Amino acid sequence: MSNRSRSIEGRIAIVTGAASGMGRATAKLLASEGAKVAVTDLDLGACQEVARDCGVNARPYALDVSNAETIKSVVARIAEDFGGIDILINNAGVSCHASLDADDDEYEEVWNRALTILLTGQQRMVRAALPHLRESDAPRIVNIASTEGLGATPGLSPYVAAKTGVTGLTRSMAVDLGPEGITVNCLCPGPINTAMTSSISDEHKTIYAKRRTALRRYGDPEEVAHVTISLVLPAASFITGAVIPVDGGLMARNA
Ligand code: NAD
Repeated sequence: MSNRSRSIEGRIAIVTGAASGMGRATAKLLASEGAKVAVTDLDLGACQEVARDCGVNARPYALDVSNAETIKSVVARIAEDFGGIDILINNAGVSCHASLDADDDEYEEVWNRALTILLTGQQRMVRAALPHLRESDAPRIVNIASTEGLGATPGLSPYVAAKTGVTGLTRSMAVDLGPEGITVNCLCPGPINTAMTSSISDEHKTIYAKRRTALRRYGDPEEVAHVTISLVLPAASFITGAVIPVDGGLMARNA
């Protein structure tokens, strides 16, 4: 195996939801390893900041993954600006709480938001990037799901349904795209310290992590980013359709 296949230098990557948390950590790590990175998120200003931190190989793009037309036009622009696409990291997300006893309008609103951003957005991103990924010599897709796609916390049914959908979508895409050498894998992060979990008190985080995870702590976004990078190397050519917990042992623990 050549050194080149163990490196992502010069490879072209899109990261969604890259202005914060795991997306930002992944964009920065990709750039530090020499990849060319399209830093995409809702807010262009925030993307510009992250792209500046990433260095000369990164460019910012406003991209709302809930908007089908924007996805098509921005992905096409990225491919044109960089001269192709090798790697897609489907990371953008929001937390979506809704009790089954909520009134219909409230529940439907959260349900639709969860499915549109967390699941439909990933499908649309893959389909928009596909013609460009097909031109790559080592095309890689990583979808970010959650341990909520493997089990369920009470009160999160729209989020759980969407993240479970991501695990199925990953397997299905892996099967459909495997004959073309396109790998599609999925990470299921457990509790990670990001903006999404910032409203939870430190005390509650500590209690939860001690009770639920093997490592007895929350993870950092960089710890997920490193696993993502390992899946997008050209050398990571025989892993596809995998649904991998990155959760400090949360799914492994039952006592
Ligand atoms: P975060 O809030 O730090 O970052 C999420 C990013 O997604 C934000 O920058 C936000 O602006 C962006 N985003 C939201 N809606 C968008 C849209 N419609 N289009 C484009 N970008 C959009 O959260 P995070 O924890 O880094 O989350 C990253 C991913 O990891 C999400 O898919 C989340 O569901 C998942 N996840 C998070 C945890 C956790 O504990 N933090 C655990 C498991 C899975």
